[in-house]
Amino acid sequence: MTSFSGKTAWPTGTECVAKYNFQGTMEQDLPFSKGDVLTIIGVTKDPNWYKAKNTLGREGTIPANYVQKREGVKSGGKLSLMPWFHGKITRDQAERLLYPPETGLFLVRESTNYPGDYTLCVSCEGKVEHYRIIYHNGKLSIDEEEYFENLMQLVEHYTKDADGLCTRLIKPKLMEGTVAAQDEFSRSGWALNMKELKLIQTIGKGEFGDVILGDYRGTKVAVKCIKHDATAQAFIAEASVMTQLRHNNLVQLLGVIVEDRGSLFIVTEFMAKGSLVDYLRSRGRTVLGGECLLKFSLDVCEAMEYLEVNNFVHRDLAARNVLVSEDNIAKVSDFGLTKEASSTQDTAKLPVKWTSPEALREKLCFYCFLPSDIPSPTLLLEIYYQQGLPLKEVVPRVEKGYKMDAPDGCPAVVYDLMKQCWTLDPAVRPSFRMLREKLQHIRAKELYL
Ligand code: ADP
Ligand code: MG
Repeated sequence: MTSFSGKTAWPTGTECVAKYNFQGTMEQDLPFSKGDVLTIIGVTKDPNWYKAKNTLGREGTIPANYVQKREGVKSGGKLSLMPWFHGKITRDQAERLLYPPETGLFLVRESTNYPGDYTLCVSCEGKVEHYRIIYHNGKLSIDEEEYFENLMQLVEHYTKDADGLCTRLIKPKLMEGTVAAQDEFSRSGWALNMKELKLIQTIGKGEFGDVILGDYRGTKVAVKCIKHDATAQAFIAEASVMTQLRHNNLVQLLGVIVEDRGSLFIVTEFMAKGSLVDYLRSRGRTVLGGECLLKFSLDVCEAMEYLEVNNFVHRDLAARNVLVSEDNIAKVSDFGLTKEASSTQDTAKLPVKWTSPEALREKLCFYCFLPSDIPSPTLLLEIYYQQGLPLKEVVPRVEKGYKMDAPDGCPAVVYDLMKQCWTLDPAVRPSFRMLREKLQHIRAKELYL
């Protein structure tokens, strides 16, 4: 790494987001607009200038102080949409937290006197005022005139206007150990500008929100909209995991928009051909042919190998969570359950341990096909399986050690791999890397024919 007067230069491959427009004055300059994503491709003699490439592949020099380095959001677990929410604390504790006095400093706690209600505590001219927030018919109110869907909307309202309180809300008292999600996404270069996002039409219904086709600065994007505050909180973790991942076979995060009102928009690349399940179903496996099915298996396997190598566990791998791009590349999506394996534990062994059906069967998530990333038996099966028992009934049997017959039309070499993946003993089960190597071999030698 090159170092300039103590400051470490950004290495090649670093991603930056433009903070301002740059028109460029010299011929070698690369002009850009605020919000553009640029990738560093080298240093120049001047530490304030870098060689960079834009998303269209155009190269040139850029001024470092016009751009912001983009980083992975690491503190996923601590990110909060409501960092001012302190849960069940007493009136005294709240007053201590709001000390020293600072007019407009506030927090929200659960009411001790009225279970189910909340209390808004605001510091005002040396005194702390406690306002009861009543919960009535699914809505929240302080004055019983103005009602709100959730605490975020309420806080947003009183941030703009005191509206009867002793002061408007100015500064949140952050709960210890939390980071305001919005600030963190901005700081790390992942916050997008709502004004530049056009929502065009709904293209999917997810468990927790709609997926909408959008246009972000001239590019088609998919936008996952999460309107419910508690769910949004869960998806913050998903988005923060996605900031750390970059692979051609993972659906790429483009950015996040956190709205004051508690809505969350997760913007990703648009996958024109939809989910792999629908793709396989609507076109038919025999029509698609062996090469295509093998290519999809390989695509997914490469993504999973990348996660495996980087100590991430997906835990919800299934064909419905794989999307197909315009140019027929399969990419894994839905990182809602993805976890970074803790670095404090034995990382060399962890992925295997974490992903074993034995370890996770108990924690089976309600919409998981399989609780973990067992090297892709279900997925291979899903890609090749055509008829007979519904897959939902097949999978539990496979988990118990039952090895089903080869799906119709499944090449023997692929079926062999499937069987290896079904091995319940994790020591014998192939890793995604081995699986990928074998699939590549099958492809290169055209053994799928
Ligand atoms: P859930 O996991 O809650 O079901 P998904 O994120 O899988 O929600 O999205 C639901 C559907 O929306 C998908 O099956 C797919 O058809 C569509 N979809 C999701 N993300 C994209 C995307 N990036 N591009 C195109 N379509 C998408
Ligand atoms: Mg899904």
